[in-house]
Amino acid sequence: MSEVDERAIIESYKFHHIDISKCKQCKEFSCEEACFRGIYEVINKDTIPKCIVVEDREDRCVKCHICTTACKLRAITID
Ligand code: SF4
Ligand code: SF4
Repeated sequence: MSEVDERAIIESYKFHHIDISKCKQCKEFSCEEACFRGIYEVINKDTIPKCIVVEDREDRCVKCHICTTACKLRAITID
């Protein structure tokens, strides 16, 4: 992976990788709405937001990459 910020904190699932250091600054939470397969949930929206992949939903992903585009902070990568 290129361009990995040294401050990045990546949480990896099977093939989704989320830089949760970016989620902390997020105000839009567009990942949740963008994924029509319901894969993401943003927790702690009022404090320190963090995007998670909902348990057992990761395999629903069709790799359409709508979410990677929707996340303006570019926190999401998919293998
Ligand atoms: S994945 Fe992107 S849109 Fe979702 S909470 Fe994190 S920074 Fe915000
Ligand atoms: S690639 Fe498509 S299906 Fe997969 S998590 Fe992103 S928006 Fe959802």
